[in-house]
Amino acid sequence: MQNSRSKILIVEDEAAIRQMVCLSLNQAGYHCIEAADTQEAQTKIVAEIPDLILLDWMLPGVSGVEYARRLRREKLTQNLPIIMLTARTEEEDKIRGLDSGADDYITKPFSTRELLARVKALLRRVSPLSAETLLEVEGLSLDPVTHRVTADGKTLTLGPTEFRLLHFFMSHPERVHTRERLLNGVWGDNVYVEERTVDVHIRRLRKILIPSGHERLIQTVRGAGYRFSAQS
Ligand code: CA
Repeated sequence: MQNSRSKILIVEDEAAIRQMVCLSLNQAGYHCIEAADTQEAQTKIVAEIPDLILLDWMLPGVSGVEYARRLRREKLTQNLPIIMLTARTEEEDKIRGLDSGADDYITKPFSTRELLARVKALLRRVSPLSAETLLEVEGLSLDPVTHRVTADGKTLTLGPTEFRLLHFFMSHPERVHTRERLLNGVWGDNVYVEERTVDVHIRRLRKILIPSGHERLIQTVRGAGYRFSAQS
C-alpha cells in the first residue's frame, strides 16, 4: 500500500509540454516535479528520488538516451522506472531507447489519457506492494485490499510493519533478501532505519505465525538475510 502520492519527475525542455504533462499528473493525484534539462533533473533526483521519471529524448546538452544510461549505472537510480518521451517513431530508435534502460516509450504527440495509462501501468509493475491480488501460500493468505491475514482460515493480528514485511515476502518468494533489500522494500528507500530493526520485526512476525506453523516459511539464510519459501 502506498501512503503518499507517487512523485513523477518530468524532464522536458519544451515548457508548454512540460507544464501540460505536470498539470495532468497533478490532476490525476500524482505529485509532479519539473526539470528543463538533465542537469536540473539530477539536482532534483538527488534532493528527492522520484517514483518514476518521464524523460524526453531530445534535450539540450545530454540527451535523454544518454541520461537514461547514466541513471541505470548509478546505484541510487538503477531501479528508477523510466518512460521515454520522443517524437521519433522509427522502430530502430524505439529499440535504442529501450536499450538505454528505459522501461517504456511514448511517442509524441500523445494524449493525456495514454500518458496516464502508461504511468499507472509502470508504477503498478514496479511496485508489487501496491498490487491487489490475494496472496496465498500453504494455507497462509494475505489480502492486500482488506489487510486481512489468515492462517488456515483463522484471522491473524499483525502490526503495520509486520503486515508490509509479510506482504513483501509473499510477493517476492523463493529468493534471498538481504536486510538492506528488506529495508528498501518494506520501509522505503528514503527512511533511515538500522538493519537490526529488520531482525526485530522478523522475530515478531514469526511469533505471530508460530501457532499455525507458518513461521517455517520465513527462513534465515546465514550470512545473507532471509527467504520466504514453501520448500524447507
Ligand atoms: Ca525536447
